[in-house]
Amino acid sequence: MTNFEEMGLNPGILKAVQELGFERPMPVQEKVIPLMLADSGDIIALAQTGTGKTAAFGLPLIQSTNVENLNPQALILCPTRELCLQIAGDLTDFAKYTGKLNILAVYGGASIDNQIRSLKKGVQIIVATPGRLIDLIGRGAAKLFAVSTVILDEADEMLNMGFLDSINEILEEVPDGRRTLLFSATMSPEIAAIARNYMEKPTEITIGTKNSSAENVSHAYFLVHAKDKYKVLKRIADSEPNIYGIIFCRTRAETQDVASKLIQDGYNADALHGDLSQAQRDTVMQKFRIRNLQLLVATDVAARGLDVDDLTHVINYSLPDDTEVYTHRSGRTGRAGKTGISLSLVHLRERHNLQLIEKLVKKKFKALPIPTGSEICGKQLFHWVKKLENAVTEHQEIEKFLPDIKEKLAELDREELIRRVVSLEFDRFLDDYRHGEDIISPTSDRESGFEGQGRGSRERYAGNFKRLFINLGKTDGFYPEQLIELVNTYTKGRKIPIGKIDLLKTFSFFEVGAEYADFLISALNDKTFMDRRVAVEIAQEKTISTDGERREKRPAKWSDRRPEKRGGERSDKYRKEGRKESKPYKKEGRKPGR
Ligand code: AMP
Repeated sequence: MTNFEEMGLNPGILKAVQELGFERPMPVQEKVIPLMLADSGDIIALAQTGTGKTAAFGLPLIQSTNVENLNPQALILCPTRELCLQIAGDLTDFAKYTGKLNILAVYGGASIDNQIRSLKKGVQIIVATPGRLIDLIGRGAAKLFAVSTVILDEADEMLNMGFLDSINEILEEVPDGRRTLLFSATMSPEIAAIARNYMEKPTEITIGTKNSSAENVSHAYFLVHAKDKYKVLKRIADSEPNIYGIIFCRTRAETQDVASKLIQDGYNADALHGDLSQAQRDTVMQKFRIRNLQLLVATDVAARGLDVDDLTHVINYSLPDDTEVYTHRSGRTGRAGKTGISLSLVHLRERHNLQLIEKLVKKKFKALPIPTGSEICGKQLFHWVKKLENAVTEHQEIEKFLPDIKEKLAELDREELIRRVVSLEFDRFLDDYRHGEDIISPTSDRESGFEGQGRGSRERYAGNFKRLFINLGKTDGFYPEQLIELVNTYTKGRKIPIGKIDLLKTFSFFEVGAEYADFLISALNDKTFMDRRVAVEIAQEKTISTDGERREKRPAKWSDRRPEKRGGERSDKYRKEGRKESKPYKKEGRKPGR
């Protein structure tokens, strides 16, 4: 691997690079810097943000800029004002020891008069959003006759934002004979068209695989019931105490809703979407950048301008409709040589989308089990123990209390002391998880098989069925969906064939694949449904009643277990609600405080 010194960069730039702590060039820099220094023509670089592309074009650009000439010599176009400011800031850092080099960011939403004044003073490098630059060209403030380098950064994003016409218009203004560099995360027909129209035999560079997301990002997903999405999100956050991530939602309303819930549940989160004013968005972004926020809930559009390097997670609360958007989202983590993870909450109906994304990214996504309460408890506790380990104990004020405290605790040995401290913490924030039910991923085959009250499943299952009794019936709001969900919940992903279901008022019978009967009985017995203890056992033989009808009875021992009063009012309510939205299990409680 080459180092910066061997690349032909001048000492001033090398000094700046060293001060920035860049020890070795990143792959895109290794490829682009020598080509630009050798002035070897146009370049298309397929590279994600976070791969070091600003320095890749910025360092050689600064080296080749003539500080004596006060006309714009280089033009960098990018999609957002935030990126504009960031690129201009990075270039200013790179040019710290390069004499008087004026770099100006021009973008919409800020005073055009100030920008015109700055341009008049003389600027060598303009970093611009396309719309504002067109305005400035129109007013005669931006003169591009001396521009010899044009850089289109995040070209795919610019096209997504509808800047194609503006880009074409600007490129028409720049003299022929310039060199053009195009950076894009993905290659699309539109990008290829720009290359065809405005670039001269470009050298194509690909960092990582084409159209793939960053190398050091791993991709995984949780298969979830739509109703469990938010709960699963909380579990992800709780099982990663050091999480620093963006949660992507599809709409502004969803973004606001998820963020509000998280805030209400005590998480360090906020929302970023287009309904906020620019000032509000700036505040949220700044809070997130300096890590005052751990979780940012954002729409794709609003997050465009945000450039943060060390995200640990990208969470796709909803998968994007446009699969390429996924590449942008996941490319926000795993930057600058760090590893990152892109997690998606996927509903059964979205699995097709997921497959399309896997194809585009060329990686198989790992299906993850939803973190259990016990796993989360473990993670939170060890996180807390680590904090305890690293706690700074140099507070003079404590000293004077210590002798008395020590005396009070003298009776407790070390082990007992640890046990009590840990258990205090455990009780404080983990109560809900300790007692709450775990969330189970839906299993596709089983779910679809169960449609039509188990008949689908029955038709597909070739073995014998065994008939089981369950002490729940219609009065309990217990219908086929509830039975299926109960089975799903407590059999953790095993495919259990269910046959005919006979619902009675206060108890029911259902068929189950014979070889699963014992397993299911022990899985369901003593669990809770609507505050009732569930009891399941092998059904007794059917009997023929005096009126000639086949009758079935609940086992005698259950007859006295039903609470005396199961009033009509309550059962009606359950009947209505139970059918629509089955919520048989204990609700997850409030999030542990942090
Ligand atoms: P970029 O893709 O230009 O946004 O860069 C991503 C991050 O990588 C920025 O924070 C840069 O400061 C950092 N970076 C760029 N080049 C290097 C390098 N050679 N070594 C370490 N960090 C770098």
